[in-house]
Amino acid sequence: GSFEEMNLKEDLLKGIYSYGFEAPSAIQSRAIMQIISGRDTIAQAQSGTGKTATFSIAMLQTIDINKKDTQALVLSPTRELAIQIQDVIKSLGDYMNVKCHACTGGRAVGNDMKSLNKGQHIVSGTPGRVLDMINRRVLNTRHIKILVMDEADELLGKGFQDQIYEIYKFLPPGAQVVVVSATVPHSVLAVTRKFMNNPVKILV
Ligand code: AMP
Repeated sequence: GSFEEMNLKEDLLKGIYSYGFEAPSAIQSRAIMQIISGRDTIAQAQSGTGKTATFSIAMLQTIDINKKDTQALVLSPTRELAIQIQDVIKSLGDYMNVKCHACTGGRAVGNDMKSLNKGQHIVSGTPGRVLDMINRRVLNTRHIKILVMDEADELLGKGFQDQIYEIYKFLPPGAQVVVVSATVPHSVLAVTRKFMNNPVKILV
């Protein structure tokens, strides 16, 4: 397959090629269109398979760039990963002029508030800070169409479970949920049963 066959927005396709990708990886071939279709998806994939670009491309295709609302949220287990994801989204979405903010602990709250108040299409964060921003009414969840949980086994193994359940409660009913995880332990299965509607499973 090719990225052209995915019927992506032209400025997104341009961003993908400018980033240096020539052809989709296995998970990208199997999961990007699937996620774009709106169906809840569990992708069992490790780092190094191209998982980050998979959900980043799908999110960039899904958002309406002409609306300032936050429409996509990615949760990951570490600050470093949240920032890495933000960098990938910004690069792939460069020609779309996407606004993406990394919302993580360990950095000034005022900085998050300023950025979020300006309007961010996509937020990539760690659960604690994201929940803090929701509770402060700085991050508006009303227009979120897609929630991605990256490295979900790590996320749920790290004691973020309560915060994730709390965040989920703020999402509009029917929001799409995508789970990426290297392994699918009980904690991940429990979340998928609670949050997901008839998910498709993709094993890479
Ligand atoms: P990840 O699985 O997201 O940790 O990505 C692993 C590495 O693969 C990153 O350095 C990506 O930039 C790279 N990568 C992802 N997708 C592609 C692709 N389609 N073509 C070439 N490199 C890719």
